[in-house]
Amino acid sequence: LRRDLARIVGDEFALEGNTQNRRFAHDMSDRSGLRGRADAVVFPANTEQVAAVVAWSYSRGVPVIPRGGGTGYTGGSTPIHGGVIIALERLCAVHAFDPLLWRMHVGCAVTTARVQRLARENGLYFPVDPGAAEESQIGGNVATNAGGPHCFKYGTMRAWITGLTAVLPPGDIASFGGPVRKDVSGYDLIGLMSGSEGTLGVITDVWLRLIPRPVTSRPVCAVVPDAAACQQAIHLVLASGVVPAAIEYLDAATMKEVGAGFPGGHLPGSGFLVIAEVDSCSNDADALIEALGSDSLTPDPRDLWRWRDGVSHAMTARLGRKISEDVVVPLDRFAEAVDRTLELGFQHQVEACSWGHAGDGNLHSTFLFSPDRPDEARRAHAAAEAMLEVAVEMGGTISGEHGVGILKAGHLRNQWNAAAVQAHEAIKATLDPKNLMNPGKKRP
Ligand SMILES: Cc1cc2nc3c(=O)[nH]c(=O)nc-3n(C[C@H](O)[C@H](O)[C@H](O)COP(=O)(O)OP(=O)(O)OC[C@H]3O[C@@H](n4cnc5c(N)ncnc54)[C@H](O)[C@@H]3O)c2cc1C
Repeated sequence: LRRDLARIVGDEFALEGNTQNRRFAHDMSDRSGLRGRADAVVFPANTEQVAAVVAWSYSRGVPVIPRGGGTGYTGGSTPIHGGVIIALERLCAVHAFDPLLWRMHVGCAVTTARVQRLARENGLYFPVDPGAAEESQIGGNVATNAGGPHCFKYGTMRAWITGLTAVLPPGDIASFGGPVRKDVSGYDLIGLMSGSEGTLGVITDVWLRLIPRPVTSRPVCAVVPDAAACQQAIHLVLASGVVPAAIEYLDAATMKEVGAGFPGGHLPGSGFLVIAEVDSCSNDADALIEALGSDSLTPDPRDLWRWRDGVSHAMTARLGRKISEDVVVPLDRFAEAVDRTLELGFQHQVEACSWGHAGDGNLHSTFLFSPDRPDEARRAHAAAEAMLEVAVEMGGTISGEHGVGILKAGHLRNQWNAAAVQAHEAIKATLDPKNLMNPGKKRP
């Protein structure tokens, strides 16, 4: 298998699966213990080589697993059924950047942070900001329809794509959209590829839309006693009339662990932290301060978001492992979902906490465990599974940003009705009739 693939990509760019490359056996969900085994890993240089690898694999019934930065939280790029990992890291060229036209055309392996930096250095802004931006790739961001704190105002990855190229089974190169800012001529196939998690094809390049950089960014932070007060604070922020760029929260258990590093000065009391940020017009911050109370803090935005990006790692470090869900509930049930997270932790006798994108009703419900205690790991997983059911019960969704991957496969069936599930399956069967594109992932 490796020898055949080496003829396509070159000898040094085709490796044997696990023996040579253990890092490809998992993504960031290995914190919850998930690992797989690939038969080979290839590093194609361009779209044509990706197409040739897919064609070779498809004609022989070999599974294909596209891999971006490997920062996913659901085992999406974990090779659970063996097969060929297409590691896309060599497709990392910026093909075109037209600052005056607010657009960029990039290879799928350009990192999120590189796009953000290039945009910033040219007075522009790319608002998609998932927490592992230095490693995650634009192709992976499309494949998971990634978000981050600022998608409250700016939307998830789909909103920032005007075109893309993808290799579809059995090895065809398809282009949807392009540099045009509007295109309603066909079905929204860019939307279909967004969040497809490698199960429909391999995205190889992307046309991105950018906007001018906001003139100011001002986060306003307040401490509130509990989940109900946190929900009330969100309501007050929404009622203030400004459109915040982000509304985030960290619950009391999370703050207990990471609060000491808060970069915005002395916190008035302990409890939940609510962060609301406005960009563009500084007067708007005054409205947020009024909404969140006069003892609100206004840290430097760069320090604040750097601290906030570290929360996930800090909580993992507490016991060594964690499983973090990314459920979304309707905003009016937010406090209930935060409390249910703690209740599930209590029921399953594991430490629980949550933080996340409060304005979107998007919780990272988290259950901690130690790698040395298999029983605790089982209980943490059971609590996380139960949280998915809670979200569906509340009229929410099992995933607001990380996708389904392998860890949540099977749960969409509880959330959608039979006809919706059938439409989902029909799309998969039409585009990937042999079920070889990242098999086992994102299945209802
Ligand atoms: C600390 C931390 C914080 C995070 N915070 C956020 C957050 O705030 N918001 C958020 O949305 N996510 C977040 N994530 C999750 C993760 O960073 C995102 O899902 C990211 O978009 C994954 O990109 P990646 O390049 O690492 O993809 P991978 O992990 O390599 O792959 C993810 C999925 O996409 C598929 N895929 C990857 N590249 C391609 C391609 N070119 N073509 C087709 N399929 C492909 C893979 O098969 C897999 O199914 C966080 C992760 C970490 C570790």
